Amino acid sequence: MSTSHNAVCRRCRVEKTKLFLKGDKCLSSKCPVERRSYAPGQHGRIRRRILGYGIQLREKQKLKRYYGMTEKQFRLFFTRAESQKGVTGENLLGLLERRLDNVVFLAGFAHSRAQARLLIAHGHFQVNERKASVPSYVVGREDVIVFRDQSAKRSGLRDVVDAHKAKTIPGWMEVDRENLTVRIMSLPTRADVTMPVEEHLVVELYSK
Ligand code: SF4
Repeated sequence: MSTSHNAVCRRCRVEKTKLFLKGDKCLSSKCPVERRSYAPGQHGRIRRRILGYGIQLREKQKLKRYYGMTEKQFRLFFTRAESQKGVTGENLLGLLERRLDNVVFLAGFAHSRAQARLLIAHGHFQVNERKASVPSYVVGREDVIVFRDQSAKRSGLRDVVDAHKAKTIPGWMEVDRENLTVRIMSLPTRADVTMPVEEHLVVELYSK
């Protein structure tokens, strides 16, 4: 068990940034990135200069891991972003932010995006009164996401919601903690993405 936990934190240490994959531990002094700000492994402390392709690759990996996606899923999102009007990098970030698992996490209904994915896959959520079990579902303006009544007690969601009472909710969504509901008020903009990322590097990587 401890091996897999470490493996998750390794991803942050490889990217040398906090990807917030472990819920509350990420905000505590136990976060390995806080304690060891160098890459994992025997040669982790050796400073290596990365250039061009390497920088682009790291930026893509960082973004992909932040949202907990596989390469295939991430590519599909990129293709979708490319086909939209506007700046591809910003389109990509907008789509990623609107993933159902991300929305559930940002609303404070899960400790992490990984837990949000699990809750969704187990059928605990409805979008616009229809059961939604696909974590990669992209929500739209006016969508209403509801935690299904019978599930709330069984899954211990009330405790999770109470633990995140003080969480800052993004301005593009409205959260009703009492009724375990999220309403999408507007689409997120570039300014709503809090993760430090240079998305143009991801676009350059995939445009080769
Ligand atoms: Fe682990 Fe979270 Fe820290 Fe990343 S941010 S190293 S997942 S505790």
